[in-house]
Amino acid sequence: MASSAILALPQKPKVATCPWCKNDPVLMAAAGVVTHGPMPMGTKTSVEFAADLPASQWIFLETAHLRWASSLPDQKIDLDERVRVDAELARLREKLPSVPKEVKKLDPWLRLHLIAMKGEDLYARFQALLRVTDADFPAERKTDGPFMGAGQYLGEKDKFEVSLHSNRTTHNLFTKEFSGAQVTNALRWHFPGLHKMHASLPCEDADLRQDKWLFPHIAHNLSHLFFSAYKHFSYDPPLWLDEGLALCLEKEIDPRSTTNEGEEGSFRDATYPSDWSDATRKMLARGRAKTMAELMYMKEVGALDRDGLFTVWSMVRFLIDTQAEGLAKLLGGVKGQLDEQGLPTGKDLPSLQRKLLKDVFAWTPQAFDEVWRAWASQPPVAGK
Ligand SMILES: [Zn+2]
Repeated sequence: MASSAILALPQKPKVATCPWCKNDPVLMAAAGVVTHGPMPMGTKTSVEFAADLPASQWIFLETAHLRWASSLPDQKIDLDERVRVDAELARLREKLPSVPKEVKKLDPWLRLHLIAMKGEDLYARFQALLRVTDADFPAERKTDGPFMGAGQYLGEKDKFEVSLHSNRTTHNLFTKEFSGAQVTNALRWHFPGLHKMHASLPCEDADLRQDKWLFPHIAHNLSHLFFSAYKHFSYDPPLWLDEGLALCLEKEIDPRSTTNEGEEGSFRDATYPSDWSDATRKMLARGRAKTMAELMYMKEVGALDRDGLFTVWSMVRFLIDTQAEGLAKLLGGVKGQLDEQGLPTGKDLPSLQRKLLKDVFAWTPQAFDEVWRAWASQPPVAGK
């Protein structure tokens, strides 16, 4: 009995040391790495996570605001990616001098180090859009001062998590445990008791196996997590803003990448054109744009067809490029609405949006449409 009980124990997961920061506290701190594990992951520890989900190797990396789990293998660097990857490696080398110069392929550790570095870039970009810093988020809700949620991470209590699965099977096993559903594509989740957000991404299909397409897709999903988390995730934010922001951040990484929200989770959609400014102008010329008055009421992402996606991307792009200060006020205003008892409430968001448009920009929804259309219809500037 004793021996079979021992045999039934799960295999001890392979523990390897990162060849680049070598688990050296000084090197890791310099590179912005908190730890390579153990760390929390989903509802478990990273050790349990790795033991439960069969993969040849799991690597974990925690930075100031994010935690990553990855079973991604090494990645050959394509010729057309050379310049981008070399620049990223040079940035990492400033912190981790051992990072080599002539790399034909990224090993799984180096690959995750680069992804994690860019994850923190994205966090900083999002904070800049919100016009906030870490200092704006107390660890606990305070009785005085503006309502900023329940914790340090944009309003959540714990760090943001992303799991990158080289194999869809582990993505399915992992997500089914807490969501109860079998999801084919990327799944985003809020763990209410833990007050943290997780994105689980299957990276099995040919496109998402390449970092070139994977990272913009990560950016899209993280944008959704960040905006949901802002001032704590207590209700769904207005769809047009949420989707528009995610598309903007994704396309700031690579304009050719489009992540779409489907029935089976979010996925990279290769059927879209690469020039969305041009697509938006053509759509406007055909009179196919949605109006702000319609979008304010929209809750189901399925209601956003192709023209709807061009519209929300372009509207948010317009606000980022021409009304950055006002956009931050709008984003802050739609999140963290409180009721008479001081509790977060998603009640009557259309009225809230109408009020914010008026107070922040002095626009009616119709006036917004006119200014946005004029901006989005402009022909491209020569040489740009
Ligand atoms: Zn490392």
